[in-house]
Amino acid sequence: MSCFPTPGFAYVGGALHAEGVPLSRIADAVGTPAYVYSTAGLEANWHAYDDVLAPYRAKGLGIDICYALKANSNLAVIRTLANLGAGADVVSEGEMRRALAAGIPADRIVFSGVGKTPEEVAAALTVGIHQLNVESFPELEMVSAVATRLGKPAPIAIRINPDVDAGTHGKIATGRKEDKFGIDLSLARDAFARAKALPGLQPVAVAIHIGSQLLKTTPFRQAFGKVAELVQVLREDGIPISRIDLGGGLGVPYRPSDAEPDHHSYVAAIFETVGHLGCQVTLEPGRSLVASAGLLLARVNFVKEGLHRRFLVLDAAMNDLMRPALYDAWHTLLPVEEPSPASPLSPVDVVGPVCESGDTFAKQREMPPVAPGALVAFLTAGAYGAAMSGTYNSRPLVPEVLVTGDSFAVVRRRPSFEESLALEKMPDWLSPTPA
Ligand SMILES: *Cc1c(COP(=O)(O)O)cnc(C)c1O
Repeated sequence: MSCFPTPGFAYVGGALHAEGVPLSRIADAVGTPAYVYSTAGLEANWHAYDDVLAPYRAKGLGIDICYALKANSNLAVIRTLANLGAGADVVSEGEMRRALAAGIPADRIVFSGVGKTPEEVAAALTVGIHQLNVESFPELEMVSAVATRLGKPAPIAIRINPDVDAGTHGKIATGRKEDKFGIDLSLARDAFARAKALPGLQPVAVAIHIGSQLLKTTPFRQAFGKVAELVQVLREDGIPISRIDLGGGLGVPYRPSDAEPDHHSYVAAIFETVGHLGCQVTLEPGRSLVASAGLLLARVNFVKEGLHRRFLVLDAAMNDLMRPALYDAWHTLLPVEEPSPASPLSPVDVVGPVCESGDTFAKQREMPPVAPGALVAFLTAGAYGAAMSGTYNSRPLVPEVLVTGDSFAVVRRRPSFEESLALEKMPDWLSPTPA
């Protein structure tokens, strides 16, 4: 039961800081809205896994952490995690190129995703990808055809759907039999037999990913147990499974009342279910490595007193942070100037300037008084924040800043209006300028 302060963010001398840097300094330098990431926060999240894994590694369990880039694919964030020892899990050629550009070698990259194109598969095989995680029978045929054409055998995992309910939000549950992901467990033997028969495929791994934002270990343990049983059966079928990919999904506390996920019990579940198989294990955490290490800094444009409600109108909007609009997600909102403990709380609706009622970050949130022009920060915004941001309402992409100690750097700048316009072109049947 804590999501603040974190290793990255705290009030110091009455002002919210990212490590040694006051957020007001960053706002002055890059404007708002802006994402701010903490190196110390990323390191703490990495060590929450890595330190727990160390004794199991010492016992001989081979285990790799491949960071799921889709949570936050900023190059500097990827590089920070890569320097700590992370490989990568990617779901598109764009993400694969980012992982490579950030310095992660191809033999430490897993390519997942339910709808890969032949071009993406060719690109992955050409660079020497560690593993392609295949999700359907037609994809097996396609990967076989591409691998055969290129003369490059494809090391593959088959992602199975273990039919467990992760008990998470419907839009981020992926391991129930009605979800679009993976091959039904009951068809897994057929799928591996088909893979063995097809030219160009090396079926080496079983993969799962049951969903995101799981705060309890029980669904993981159920799913991992099913994987272990399947690996035994496949080996009896003569398929030499040497790797297991257990996906991502460990959650993070967004609300002060949320439980802290228990890395110890998560890793114990892995060791106890699949530890005896002698397989190399891959984990693909995304959210839990980056969420708490980032915040979205914004400014209050107006405090609007309605007849029935008070609104804080921010300069950040749903295009910058989609999670509240998409999943009704909660992000704790703090004033950058520390409120006195005596300030009264009152309910406000926190909204952005986009022309949609869905552009609402919070309803009836209890907040201390915040003046127009004040800076505020949405916490736990390092995952699925900037990565999901867009330009709806022709708002420029939100910039990203990385802090370490007393220093900060703009790691993605805000594009200019001219740059955005330059992507578009009048067709020659329309006159270049209005007559
Ligand atoms: C989204 C995803 C992940 C990462 O999930 P988190 O909840 O962010 O840890 C890992 N693997 C696959 C295949 C995914 O689709």
